Amino acid sequence: MTNSEATLKKAVFFDRDGTLNVDTGYVHDWANFVWIPGAPEAIKLANDRDYLVFVITNQSGIGRGYYSEQAVHTLHDQMNVDLAKIDAHIDGLEFCPHHPKEAQSEYLKSCDCRKPAPGMILALIEKWQIDPVRSLMIGDNDTDVAAAAAANVSGHLFSNGNLRDFLAPLLSD
Ligand SMILES: [Mg+2]
Ligand SMILES: [Zn+2]
Repeated sequence: MTNSEATLKKAVFFDRDGTLNVDTGYVHDWANFVWIPGAPEAIKLANDRDYLVFVITNQSGIGRGYYSEQAVHTLHDQMNVDLAKIDAHIDGLEFCPHHPKEAQSEYLKSCDCRKPAPGMILALIEKWQIDPVRSLMIGDNDTDVAAAAAANVSGHLFSNGNLRDFLAPLLSD
């Protein structure tokens, strides 16, 4: 094993809406948050296989003024509280609040974090010392797969079914 293989970590990057939770449009409230079947168990499986687990999500609803950044932080805290019931956890959640055309004031910009741009993945790779080649991204949209590819991470399109069953064959031991 080379030094870099010993040092660098592997990770699973999950999209949020439509991948971890049912996408009913601009979800920002725990009361309306419904896990996709097998999603908590998929996160636990990744935890148990020594993958870091990240959620990266476009949240232009912030920029559009539908809800606040704090609401998103609160929802993400509640996701982790719920996951703790099965000894699972998300290591980090990143969101892009921007939109290039339909956002207010400081959120109106062509940023490098809104998927399909890879900015959120690249920032996490840098911060957590992740090996992109041994990592993967799961999302329900072509933009998720494109963001992954741009970060040299293999992207996998999840359309429906049980997320744990989808993820299991993609992980190494
Ligand atoms: Mg999605
Ligand atoms: Zn952004």
